[in-house]
Amino acid sequence: MGVSEGRIPEHKVDEVRLAASIAEVVGRRVKLTPAGKSLKGLCPFHGDSDPSLVVNRERGTWHCFGCGEGGNVFTFVMKDEGLSFPEAVKELARRYGVRLPKPQLTPAQKRQDEHRQRLLRVMEMAGIFFSEQLAAPAGAAARRYLTEQRGLSPQVTAEFGLGYAPDSWEALRRHLGGKGVPEELAMQAGLLVPRDKGDGCYDRFRGRVMFPIADAAGRLVSFGGRVLGGGEPKYLNGPETPLFNKSATLYNLPRARRHMRAKDRALVVEGYFDVITLAAMGLEETVAPMGTALTSPQVRRLKGQASNLVLVFDGDDAGRRAARRSLPLCLAEGVSPAVLLLPQGQDPDSFARARGAEGLEEALGQARPLLEAVLGQIMAEGDRSTPEGKSRIVAEAGGVLKAVKDPVVSSEYLKQMARGLGLAPEVVAARLGLPAPGSGRAPARPRPAPRPAPANSERQWQEVILQTALAQPEAAQVLAQEGLLAELPQEDLAAVARAICAELEAGGRPDPAGVMNHLEDPALHGLISRLAAAAPNWPAGEAAAHARDLAAQHRRRLLGQQLKDISRELDRADQAGDAAQRAQLQARRHELREQLKSSLPQGKD
Ligand SMILES: [Zn+2]
Repeated sequence: MGVSEGRIPEHKVDEVRLAASIAEVVGRRVKLTPAGKSLKGLCPFHGDSDPSLVVNRERGTWHCFGCGEGGNVFTFVMKDEGLSFPEAVKELARRYGVRLPKPQLTPAQKRQDEHRQRLLRVMEMAGIFFSEQLAAPAGAAARRYLTEQRGLSPQVTAEFGLGYAPDSWEALRRHLGGKGVPEELAMQAGLLVPRDKGDGCYDRFRGRVMFPIADAAGRLVSFGGRVLGGGEPKYLNGPETPLFNKSATLYNLPRARRHMRAKDRALVVEGYFDVITLAAMGLEETVAPMGTALTSPQVRRLKGQASNLVLVFDGDDAGRRAARRSLPLCLAEGVSPAVLLLPQGQDPDSFARARGAEGLEEALGQARPLLEAVLGQIMAEGDRSTPEGKSRIVAEAGGVLKAVKDPVVSSEYLKQMARGLGLAPEVVAARLGLPAPGSGRAPARPRPAPRPAPANSERQWQEVILQTALAQPEAAQVLAQEGLLAELPQEDLAAVARAICAELEAGGRPDPAGVMNHLEDPALHGLISRLAAAAPNWPAGEAAAHARDLAAQHRRRLLGQQLKDISRELDRADQAGDAAQRAQLQARRHELREQLKSSLPQGKD
């Protein structure tokens, strides 16, 4: 995210939220029908067949009872369009005509931001130049190559903004110079290269079909070029620049995102033409890394969009190696991809053109878990005929298995591998320091003890407190005064409680949508919308009465806890025969019991 993504003031965020209609924002994506005081529709975030998405116009929230997602207008746009919180606010501000203030930047940030803007304009100019060259007489050979050898229609070529860099050392340099672009700037954009000897510079891309590369926000930040004819290198990418971060960029991501979410699947291929051919056939959820292996930032970008990640690689050694290299970093991100290795000599582009979309879709149905494929490879390449060979196989596979976060998955693969090697699973597990499958025994290596989860009833109690506070401002006021919002032990609930207090202190109404403004974490928006959706519909003022009941209950719980502690101490005093201590504790117990009695609601015992 660039420096232009400054923090948006809260009152402006509020203004956008109030201007944006939740029914309209959700209704743009989902057909909503009235259901009582709310609206209902099919949830776009899970395979929903029976409308389980509920929009509450009064509260400004939405919630899905199927998958548990929910939040306010911003959460919906963030999730639906894959945007960050500030991006979602900006998008809705644009749609609803709310003017956002220019972020306050330091002079250095301002210069940097202006520099980036200038670089972006240069990239745009270059993009237009390359497209024009493809359409011009100079681009005839490139056009023939694209249609005849690559089977791309002019529409597809235009859709992906393909271009042509003329076979000249200075075509772009002269073009940009004519537009008043300083050579220094074009060099920083990666378009021109300084000469080794003497002054001046020349075009980086010459005689190449040009692929514009966009960042996650869809801005043109670099180019890839495929040589026309037999030159080297076959593919040339632009260098890292202030605009272009290779390891975080995926070709075609801005276009593919929506399709990934709709299909809950992301396809990763290796080449630009693979992406374009597959997308043109309707597999628009396809992206490619920048001529390198998949990186962790790229995997993170993808896992937010779809839960199924499929790598579609060439079936040659290079493809296998690339698939294998991407496994550990996927596992580290908690992603377990599938892999489709195409028959020898085929890449996704040629395979799709030979077999059509249906053939490729059929092949995708056969994609195996990458973990299984890699373990199979390790087994096949190792020496299974000697004990030493088996041990080496186990050690190598163990490096992979240890990265698997799900113990069920790792234990199943461990068993498979043991069977394949003719070894007992316990032996393999012991060799790797992993828990023996099915034994239920502790792992050989010490592991940190899991923190005990708080009793469910305790969490439910805290959730009821928040639910009541979110229902009506008067209730929140009561609960805040009684100190019930101050000390929630669980971090997520505590964050919501703090946001409620912040909204109260600011003199606002701590309703669900308002409270979400103080929180950027979508998980917390989901929590709030779930609590709000499950709250009873109290008539005005009743929530405050309920809040006072809760406060009284809270005091009784505390007294009950103290009484229990005293009983324990009394036992200890008995055992120790400490009469003085005993008398003191009994007096204290009597006092607490009296307090408890007087705190009970009248008419009850
Ligand atoms: Zn859902």
